[in-house]
Amino acid sequence: MTEKFLHNPSKPDKSKPWSPNCKLHTGYYSKSPDSAFYTCEICGGKTWKPTSPIPLLIVSVLIVFFTFFMGYFALTVMNDTRGYFVFSVGLYFGYMFSRNYVSNGKHWRSFRKWAKENRQ
Ligand SMILES: [Zn+2]
Repeated sequence: MTEKFLHNPSKPDKSKPWSPNCKLHTGYYSKSPDSAFYTCEICGGKTWKPTSPIPLLIVSVLIVFFTFFMGYFALTVMNDTRGYFVFSVGLYFGYMFSRNYVSNGKHWRSFRKWAKENRQ
């Protein structure tokens, strides 16, 4: 007997992956062990646990600020041109984090809306 028979897929549960396409806690499997997402058994799309995007946003902003500070420090105080490289790393982090934030935030909001409608 697997977990999905014990768990009602239409009962909101933050600890279970939630498929934004199906709007259900569908069955899921892992395509590759290092993937950050599970794959939904019903629609084949990405499914993952709904998490509040706020703590991640704070950490992301801190990391990006710290990276930019390091680049600034290298260029001005140490007179080291590798600071330009550090800046580009900071930009890359910012890009990755904002993409992550957008998809997580969207997932979180649609889960919250759905959870409100399905509260039992
Ligand atoms: Zn699905």
